[in-house]
Amino acid sequence: MSDTPIFKRLCLIGIGLIGSSIALRAKRDGLVETIVISTRRKETLKRAEALDLGDEYTDQISEAVKGADCVILCTPVGTCAMIAERMAPYLADGVIVSDVGSVKRSVVDQIKPHLPATAHLVPGHPIAGTEESGPDAGFATLFDNRWCLLTPEAKTSREAVLKIRKFWEAMGSMVDEMDPDHHDRVLAVTSHIPHLIAYNIVGTASDLEEVSQSEVIKFSASGFRDFTRIAASDPVMWRDVFLHNKEAVLEMLGRFSEDLSALQKAVRWGDGDMLFDHFTKTRDIRRGIIDAGQETDEPNFGRGKTDDT
Ligand code: NAP
Repeated sequence: MSDTPIFKRLCLIGIGLIGSSIALRAKRDGLVETIVISTRRKETLKRAEALDLGDEYTDQISEAVKGADCVILCTPVGTCAMIAERMAPYLADGVIVSDVGSVKRSVVDQIKPHLPATAHLVPGHPIAGTEESGPDAGFATLFDNRWCLLTPEAKTSREAVLKIRKFWEAMGSMVDEMDPDHHDRVLAVTSHIPHLIAYNIVGTASDLEEVSQSEVIKFSASGFRDFTRIAASDPVMWRDVFLHNKEAVLEMLGRFSEDLSALQKAVRWGDGDMLFDHFTKTRDIRRGIIDAGQETDEPNFGRGKTDDT
């Protein structure tokens, strides 16, 4: 529980998995005085109200941002320019504008031109999520022990950056700052390409003529099942990620294809040493992720029964 709220009036635009998780945590721990929720569809707004996620609800962006000392965009990254343009005339002096988008350069380029000089832009990306979406998907502990990356410009008010940092630390996150282009390259390889690979392998398996759909489902424990979890992620969110991080994704995909060709060659030529060395190296990387507290060390992701993989 916080003694003094970090913000007086927090406006969340978009109330899906990430927005509702922020709201639940902020409410649980008294991190803000008032939470104003705004979203596009009336059904989503009603659902947010039924779940008691905020204090005030409106589908009008202009109404929502009035008097807020912090506005956080929690919508797909492709919506940022439209939202920034609509809210700009109504922003209070000194407001901190932030977001949670999985891509950062495009978000900065979309929002910045619309903001008045009195607003402070501190973009953010909590590296936490699930394959679920919508206001029912959120939970207060989503950000616990997960990184949140902030990508402010060097000239951004340090006071504003420190306030957002404090907010995310209160959400349970570890916070770091990064240049937006660097963020996009790092996330291309750690998140965006793994999602693309999952979407691809699940698509390939379901299109194979010689393997029936029922076999794909029946024998899914053989690694495929873990890809299906990722490939069930929200199609709008991920479409926007690939449309807005094109360069970094294509660059990293080039590297990925070269490495895949090397593995293909090792399989073709029966180069067991190469395969063994490669697989040993990747095992060490997983150990590093577990040691850093970013993954469970229970076998089979803690599902209990270890399936045949
Ligand atoms: P979500 O559960 O699908 O919720 C999206 C929210 O955005 C909903 O309130 C939706 O409103 C609104 N929205 C969708 N399209 C819109 C449009 N065209 N115009 C205005 N509002 C629109 O999404 P999420 O998972 O919370 O993701 C939100 C942001 O967080 C994305 O930028 C994503 O990159 C980032 N992020 C996601 C994850 C993750 O794992 N999911 C992790 C880190 C960061 P309506 O229901 O009213 O249409």
